[in-house]
Amino acid sequence: MFAIGLTGGIGSGKTTVADLFAAHGVTIIDTDQIAHRITAPNGAAMPLIAREFGPAFVAPDGSLDRAAMRALVFTDDSARARLEAITHPLIRAETDRERQAATGPYQMVVVPLLVESGNWKSRVDRVLVVDCSVETQIARVMRRNAFAREQVLAIVARQATREARLAAADDVLVNEDAPLDVLDARVRQLHTHYLSLANAPRP
Ligand code: ATP
Repeated sequence: MFAIGLTGGIGSGKTTVADLFAAHGVTIIDTDQIAHRITAPNGAAMPLIAREFGPAFVAPDGSLDRAAMRALVFTDDSARARLEAITHPLIRAETDRERQAATGPYQMVVVPLLVESGNWKSRVDRVLVVDCSVETQIARVMRRNAFAREQVLAIVARQATREARLAAADDVLVNEDAPLDVLDARVRQLHTHYLSLANAPRP
């Protein structure tokens, strides 16, 4: 099925935009939600994480201790690589399963780190980047997560630059703070375009 990869920096509005596409009947496959599910109690990644990192990273309910793991991988790249070696194949397999089961005119796969993790671009037909200024990202995430400015800046610094993301885009959806109906007008335009691409004969 024709697939759009949706990406954008932290707080750019990926979930907000995906929800608007979903309201038009598009199947959304959110790799962030999948990542969350495999690290929930009884999640497929948990036995592997417990074996690799030890019980200190497992919460009492059997889910990932996110705060402990975040603190570890933020400064330790090899630990991040070990974690990703566990989670990425599981996320890919579950994404594939959901993609096979998807119905509707086309599907949208939300991948926050699509630009950073090279192989995603080849797995979708088109890349849609949700874009806003770094100042807007900072203000939103400070508000939403009660983070300090420096905390948000540290996360932004670990992600691809705005320029690198825009360079990878087939389409860009600008999402500065604005009422949802303004955003939805642009979503409708893109949706019409994607419908025609999805219905066009493919080589
Ligand atoms: P993350 O990468 O952190 O998961 P995201 O890219 O999915 O974030 P959202 O969760 O959709 O972004 O939006 C981040 C915050 O910004 C939310 O609190 C959301 O309500 C707000 N927001 C998104 N778009 C707009 C907008 N057009 N106007 C005002 N606020 C917005």
